[in-house]
Amino acid sequence: MARGRLVAGNWKMHGSRASIAALLDALVKESPPSCAVCVPFPYLAQVAERLRGSAIAWGAQNVSEHAQGAYTGEVSAAMLKEFGCRYALAGHSERRQLYGETDAQVAAKFAAARAAGITPILCVGETLQERDAGKTEEVVGRQLGKVLEKNSFENSILAYEPVWAIGTGRNATPEQAQAVHAFLRKRVPADPPILYGGSVKPQNAAAIFAMPDVDGGLIGGASLVAGDFLDIVKAAGT
Ligand code: PEP
Repeated sequence: MARGRLVAGNWKMHGSRASIAALLDALVKESPPSCAVCVPFPYLAQVAERLRGSAIAWGAQNVSEHAQGAYTGEVSAAMLKEFGCRYALAGHSERRQLYGETDAQVAAKFAAARAAGITPILCVGETLQERDAGKTEEVVGRQLGKVLEKNSFENSILAYEPVWAIGTGRNATPEQAQAVHAFLRKRVPADPPILYGGSVKPQNAAAIFAMPDVDGGLIGGASLVAGDFLDIVKAAGT
């Protein structure tokens, strides 16, 4: 994927048919370019249908590393692709922390998405303890490195999401984000978009997106509020 702007919402496990219909109506009305929403599995068809013909793309929040088989509860990349899925998050910190996803598993999910023609958004980020111990580069370098062992980074996106900034209301400063993005930029081939995620709001988005190595954002909480999400997309200058 050529380097360019993207703002992707991550709805996590929020929403209902009704609330999603209202949110999509508001987004489609504006239909800004270079934005996407990563939605809960049960709403894939509803979202795909509503966004058809609009500029807004959609993605999944997770994908199985397996192509098919006896994997109860899992969803394959081919299934997602059949619905028109464009993006899939791989290695979101909630998946790593709450569901024990390892670097190797994340790398396999990344590969499965790419094999099906879905653009993976690889999430990397350090905990507060790791940052305080001066290990930020070591951690994000290791998470990225595991993916690069067996994958190229063509048609792929990287997202730096410091764990301490996700859902906490405490965003990285623009300078902190820039420093890690610059580090990642030197290590990742194919010059992909590198998104920042972690408590991005309309109030702080423009300053973060103004950093030279920040190409957009991965937005959790604020992506559930149409006006806030649209303001953040506008702040990215898309
Ligand atoms: C996320 O879940 O990827 C995220 C960045 O969440 P929030 O914007 O709520 O911090």
